[in-house]
Amino acid sequence: MSTAIVVGAGIGGVTAAVALQRCGWQVTVLERAAELGEVGAGISVWPPAVAVLEELGVKGVAKASVQSKPAGMRRPDGRWVVTAPDLGVELPVMIHRAQLHDLITAEFGPAVTVRTGYDVRSVTQDADGVTVDDDLRADLLVAADGIRSAVRTALYPQYAGPRYSGFTAYRGIADVDLDDGGGETWGRGQLFGFARLIDGRFYWYGTANQPAGATGEPAVFGSWHDPIPRLIAGSEKILQNDIYDLTLPLVPFARGRVALLGDAAHAMTPNLGRGACSAIEDAGALGRHLMRTDDPVRALTAYDAERRPATTKLVKRSRSVGRLAQAGNPVLCTVRDGLFAVGGKLMALRARR
Ligand SMILES: Cc1cc2nc3c(=O)[nH]c(=O)nc-3n(C[C@H](O)[C@H](O)[C@H](O)COP(=O)(O)OP(=O)(O)OC[C@H]3O[C@@H](n4cnc5c(N)ncnc54)[C@H](O)[C@@H]3O)c2cc1C
Repeated sequence: MSTAIVVGAGIGGVTAAVALQRCGWQVTVLERAAELGEVGAGISVWPPAVAVLEELGVKGVAKASVQSKPAGMRRPDGRWVVTAPDLGVELPVMIHRAQLHDLITAEFGPAVTVRTGYDVRSVTQDADGVTVDDDLRADLLVAADGIRSAVRTALYPQYAGPRYSGFTAYRGIADVDLDDGGGETWGRGQLFGFARLIDGRFYWYGTANQPAGATGEPAVFGSWHDPIPRLIAGSEKILQNDIYDLTLPLVPFARGRVALLGDAAHAMTPNLGRGACSAIEDAGALGRHLMRTDDPVRALTAYDAERRPATTKLVKRSRSVGRLAQAGNPVLCTVRDGLFAVGGKLMALRARR
């Protein structure tokens, strides 16, 4: 039986483990953290990623998720600039991260072994296989070890890696009673979004321009429209992450018998809500290519050819949307909001026709 090691048990790593298991591989997942799991936040999952999860046999995503309505964009005073339902565009579903992670790991069968508390320090390969820390050996290794991937650094020591976006993100889950489906509000150098979860609570996120490493409170949203201050006040715990993406051009996602997957390969700013979705799609593609050939090196080359161009576009688009969303210049913001309003009306007209 072919064997694989997956480094990292985030959403990308666990989905890759399920995909490899479906190909008939024996999989060892190595995770640095003491326990498997995800942070207390929501996540938007777009239809292509939902389709991959279904294809991989992950059950229950539809039942555990909810589609937010109305969704669209508001001004800080609460006036809608554009609403997504008018546009007839496809929307993602919203799900709690931990729930999504649990649904994926629930598919682990006897072919998947998980070792937590395992911090991978070195990866070497030869013509026949891959060795981790002079300890474990396998036919293939999937590096799903996140934006600061040690495996990627070992493969491509010259690569510049993470690049600070200029903004930080706050996230929380609020237990509040609201009659508001959610959406995003764009201000000057700040953005706030929220969406209902299946259990009635609300997931929210807010971004603010600031230097990397600065800590703070999302007090900047205190004067924004209802229910934003209530959502912040109604959250027990607030997460803060400075937002980085990966330097372009991205490095190849395959080198011999080692594949990069998820944020290790293509970390992007969260402005399109596609990072984890792309990791899930990577896992689906990896499984498909491994099914087609007995030669893992050929399969990984095909995986890189499919996924690198697609995710490069997303890294670029996310970065551009991030720049627009975080614009601080008042004139630029007025022009931006006006263009969105006009564009929204045109799209709505087209959708109605
Ligand atoms: C504010 C914010 C909002 C977002 N919203 C969305 C959204 O709505 N939709 C969406 O699709 N994406 C979203 N994303 C992006 C998404 O969170 C990431 O793209 C996704 O979680 C990446 O998953 P991953 O498995 O590739 O990496 P990670 O989740 O980073 O997992 C990497 C794992 O590897 C482990 N690890 C690291 N190094 C080692 C080592 N040496 N040995 C062993 N284990 C190791 C880590 O402990 C970790 O568990 C958002 C991101 C942010 C910051």
